[in-house]
Amino acid sequence: MYRLALFDLDNTLVDRQSALSDAVTSLCRTHALTPDAEQWLRTELVNRANAVDFARLREVFDLEVSAVQLWQEYVSLMADAVTCRPEVLDGLARLRAAAWTIGVITNGASDIQRAKLAVTGLADLVDGVAVSGDLELRKPDLRLFELAASRCGGSLADGGWMVGDNPAGDIGGAHGAGLRTIWLRGRSWPDGLPAAHHVVDDVTDAITILLAETE
Ligand SMILES: [Mg+2]
Repeated sequence: MYRLALFDLDNTLVDRQSALSDAVTSLCRTHALTPDAEQWLRTELVNRANAVDFARLREVFDLEVSAVQLWQEYVSLMADAVTCRPEVLDGLARLRAAAWTIGVITNGASDIQRAKLAVTGLADLVDGVAVSGDLELRKPDLRLFELAASRCGGSLADGGWMVGDNPAGDIGGAHGAGLRTIWLRGRSWPDGLPAAHHVVDDVTDAITILLAETE
């Protein structure tokens, strides 16, 4: 039987917030940025980062270094700083051993999200990846879910599960795609959004739920 599990990346499989904090600290030190510039970066990048953010940083704070160089350094620092806990990698390996097909569906720039997947070892454990930057489509857009399913070699018509921390993007989007859902609680739940099928505190708990589905 074909079983598809899609996972969000940032703050689901990996801890983006701590990686972001380390990367910004390091970038600001390298370029001797002012505390104002550092605070600006922390605010602007809190949910996502794109090359254009660094063009704006350069303009607002009148920096000499090019925006391209700043972006490339940021991508590389984030890739160095981001980690996936061994128990999460192990859980994904167990899902695959139980014949699950695993996909990652993530909002973000293609280069940085793929760098994170490569350095954490997640790339070796997933069957397909859909990054919003590939298509300029973002979760909860149904088409990004369709892309993720097809990159995993299947289709949304086969059903499946979505695990993520973003209520509207991950859980709302997955409901629209006909998937069952597991929400990693943390953010506030918006009024009017249908509840997730399961709510957990840690992604390993979500994997345990999925593994129980196979029995
Ligand atoms: Mg997330």
